[in-house]
Amino acid sequence: MNKQLRKAIIAGNWKMNKTPTETAALIAQLKGAVQNPGCEVVICTPFTSLPCAVEATKGSCLHVGAENVHFEASGAFTGEISAPMLTDLGVEYVIVGHSERRQYFAETDQTVNKRALAALAAGLKVIVCVGESLAQREEGVTEELVRMQVKIALQGVSAEALKNVIIAYEPIWAIGTGRTATADQAQEVCAAIRRVVGELYGQTAADGLTVQYGGSMNAGNAAELLSKPDVDGGLIGGASLKADAFAAIVEAAGK
Ligand code: PEP
Repeated sequence: MNKQLRKAIIAGNWKMNKTPTETAALIAQLKGAVQNPGCEVVICTPFTSLPCAVEATKGSCLHVGAENVHFEASGAFTGEISAPMLTDLGVEYVIVGHSERRQYFAETDQTVNKRALAALAAGLKVIVCVGESLAQREEGVTEELVRMQVKIALQGVSAEALKNVIIAYEPIWAIGTGRTATADQAQEVCAAIRRVVGELYGQTAADGLTVQYGGSMNAGNAAELLSKPDVDGGLIGGASLKADAFAAIVEAAGK
């Protein structure tokens, strides 16, 4: 399938950066730098910045996402944020299963699945992150591992709900390290993700799925990564905090 028919999405993951005041300033810069993009542009901010981000992006091409969500709608889960809380704010997207959440906050494939289901039920678009560690790559189990992560994350997700799922392939060894996967490595795993989704949901669904690459994507390497047939966008950490660098990636995705 012609990848132009799929939605290209560039999403920034701000991680634990930017106060609400700093958020307003960066969004003002982004609105100047990113205009008429040829792709969907999302900024995922800390929870505390979401109200400000929703307000500041109104009427612009920027969409707002959260970086995580709890799987229960409400209850005794001190410190957590639910999907209805996000949608009530006007948030459209949420990242689930980022490797930093898996590594530092003990998230598992099962809780990633529960979060994805809860977010989809509330009407959020979900960016599901998968990816291998360096040791797993060196052991030659990348494809098997990523296939398993995708299968578990999508358990119970209907074909209809899948339309609101984006999968981000993020090799852990490339996140925040400056060490990017080669375009061929990114293509190989993004294609494997599309294949497993095809096995689960059929070819048409797989052809329509947006698969992102994430891991030290920047203004210099974005065009090559995004030129690959199964790489439909990017999930960007560090470079999403600089308006010019992020805008350059958005431009590369729009071509
Ligand atoms: C990320 O946090 O999802 C990410 C890809 O980070 P970086 O671009 O900084 O590697």
